[in-house]
Amino acid sequence: MSEKNPQGLSRRNFLKTLGLGAAAAAAAPALAMQDALAAPTAPGPMPMRTLGKTGVQVPTLALGGMFDTINNQLLLRQALNWGVTYWDTAEYYGRGQSEEGFGRFFAKNPERRKEVFLVTKLTPREGLDTFPERFEKSLKRLNTSYVDAFFVHGIDTMSPLTPKIRAWAADMKKAGKMRFFGFSTHSNMEDLLMSAAKEGGPAANLDLIMFTYNIHVMHKPAMQAALDACAKTGIGLVAMKTQGMGPASGPSEAELKVAQQFLKRGFTEKQAKLKAVWENNQIASICSQMPSIHILAANVAAARDKIALTEAETGTLYALACAETGGYCAGCASICQNATGGLPVRDVMRGLMYQRGYSEPGLGQNLFAELPADVRHRLATTNYSQAEAACPHKLEIAKLMREAVETLA
Ligand code: SF4
Repeated sequence: MSEKNPQGLSRRNFLKTLGLGAAAAAAAPALAMQDALAAPTAPGPMPMRTLGKTGVQVPTLALGGMFDTINNQLLLRQALNWGVTYWDTAEYYGRGQSEEGFGRFFAKNPERRKEVFLVTKLTPREGLDTFPERFEKSLKRLNTSYVDAFFVHGIDTMSPLTPKIRAWAADMKKAGKMRFFGFSTHSNMEDLLMSAAKEGGPAANLDLIMFTYNIHVMHKPAMQAALDACAKTGIGLVAMKTQGMGPASGPSEAELKVAQQFLKRGFTEKQAKLKAVWENNQIASICSQMPSIHILAANVAAARDKIALTEAETGTLYALACAETGGYCAGCASICQNATGGLPVRDVMRGLMYQRGYSEPGLGQNLFAELPADVRHRLATTNYSQAEAACPHKLEIAKLMREAVETLA
């Protein structure tokens, strides 16, 4: 393996980012697959970390609520029983139905509301002036008088975080309806994290950020600098999209090979990817989509076993990140947007990722349907050669956009 790939992905930096050395490699015991699946019922609590300057202790594994929570009430109960007490939802998920599912759980189990660190989000697309009314509706659906945190959902610039919206958030905090305020982002993450830190984080009423973080982006110097800056100002950090799935169809050959290697050691490749994120103590929690008991059990097992990756395993993930640069969209949205006259290429890539990586075609189709008709038309007719030349991951943008138009429309 070369020490540095064309994207500047240095193996030494990667190991340093993960905080791994030879000692960890020697100490980490093998974990049998059956142990991995049995771990949720084994003794040992869910590890907790402090969420930035909020001082709140949260579990290192959080439940992402972008699934049918209404018909998965037993899963919600099991998540709590296994220590997954941070729940994330949004008005956007199922057009309020995800919030409603959480709300039904709290209606039936009012004594358990206090156990949960509850987060909901609103997208700024419908206009920031709609936030006060929509937030009240979210609280109603959630059957609660307050949320522990509220995020402006999926921003790619700091512009939605206007003084007016921050003043509204401050009012909501005073009214006891919102404990902490922040945003979530899938695009231009490094820039947004750094801007938030430069503004002062909690001192500027910005307590928390949820952002895409995985083996493909964790090694980047700009990302590490942004995380250091956020940690210094006390912004609580929550990672999402930690499995690092891309817009290409099906798992790559490299991914299948790596999956086999990890299975021999008793890990699944997905568990290993979670562990790689947890190695960074700046991340308080991983918000993971866990729509089935099987996925919940596997992720809880990975969180609870506290077994660190060996240096060899870290090297394997590094090699995978290198091999998959051409299949992963890293969220640097402004690059391809500028090269296509403003087309939301990154958002469409995300739609493909939901369709292919998460087997959630409905989510991808919803995302595509929200694009204005003229944008959808331009997606099919634009020349992407400039964007492909500029894309640091060398994605086949023209081909992927064509496939998106054919399969998401
Ligand atoms: S398509 Fe390329 S340039 Fe655009 S966000 Fe993805 S990785 Fe970045």
